[in-house]
Amino acid sequence: MTDQQESVREIRINPIVPTESVLVSTARGMRPRKDEEPAPRDSRRHVDRCPFCTGNEHMTPPTVTSSPSEEKWSVRVVENLYPVLGDDSQSSNLVFGLQQAIDGYGRHEVIIDHPEHGIAIQDMSEDHLFRLTGVYRDRIRALYRADERIQYVLVFKNFGPAAGASIAHTHSQVIAMPVVPENVYNEVTHSRKYFEKNRQCIFCSLIDEALTFEATIYDRESGAVRRQFNVGQYVIERGEHFVAIKPFASRYEWEIHILPLRHRSDFVDISDDERHDLARVLKHSMTRLDAVIGGAQYNFFLHSIPHNNEFSHCHDSYHWHLEICPRTSIPTGFELGSGLFVSTISPEQAAEQLRAVELE
Ligand SMILES: [Zn+2]
Ligand SMILES: [Zn+2]
Ligand SMILES: [Zn+2]
Repeated sequence: MTDQQESVREIRINPIVPTESVLVSTARGMRPRKDEEPAPRDSRRHVDRCPFCTGNEHMTPPTVTSSPSEEKWSVRVVENLYPVLGDDSQSSNLVFGLQQAIDGYGRHEVIIDHPEHGIAIQDMSEDHLFRLTGVYRDRIRALYRADERIQYVLVFKNFGPAAGASIAHTHSQVIAMPVVPENVYNEVTHSRKYFEKNRQCIFCSLIDEALTFEATIYDRESGAVRRQFNVGQYVIERGEHFVAIKPFASRYEWEIHILPLRHRSDFVDISDDERHDLARVLKHSMTRLDAVIGGAQYNFFLHSIPHNNEFSHCHDSYHWHLEICPRTSIPTGFELGSGLFVSTISPEQAAEQLRAVELE
């Protein structure tokens, strides 16, 4: 790490979605945001009154599916008690003047990640994470198949109250939506534009850059080194099939993206071999995060190609990935008003710290 990198103040443009940017300002005192308290770690194995703990299955809405079996489940999927979208709505789409509303049709399910109440992702076995990601895949596939009105199936996880988790028991959620959400839409359309110009997937190019790129940028006047890019500088973890990267323009200070090393557009096509490697890379990445920012509250979510005709020509330009966004600070009016997120630690420095964690 050079001195130049220690005090960065610049606006970085997201290469995939150029309308998104982040202000990286590591200068001392530049802290417009309030820090989140680390979530108190609830490490209890069983809580008598928790609806997601074993023995309390009658306290949840009906089981959608369980793995490996209903009696001895390791992962259990139930209907959400308070769905944000439902299949019972009678209204149709609505337009009045400039206002437009799409019927809130959809499905909302909860995936109980593990029978143990307070277990963290990094403490689950690789076999368990293999099973859990298999359930993610199966639910996405089933929900797309269940209804042709579904435009996108989003799988995500909230961990900690600052990340919006209302039930402490470790869980993920699946929402099948009647629209393609804006974040996915922007990624798919912008990466298509890049592909049409360069005949290459931008995600593959970014992975390639992260694994091989090396450069030194000099100041034109003084000749001093302005910035040094080292090989692997943004790589947190590399497996056989997956890589975990710290994006150059990260909106969240400890944000990590996990991507398949080879071009893959659709998460549901993941092979067992790939899924074993994903389990390992995910576990290692979360272990590193936990070691650096202990008790992190975070969201993670899967971005994969939507199963609708509008994007059927984008399989060679879109590349699925998992985004992990730790919530270490509360966004301020500056961020909400400008859309410009502020990062007070440079992504290079964050990557270095995450990489430096020694895994057992
Ligand atoms: Zn529980
Ligand atoms: Zn690609
Ligand atoms: Zn994404």
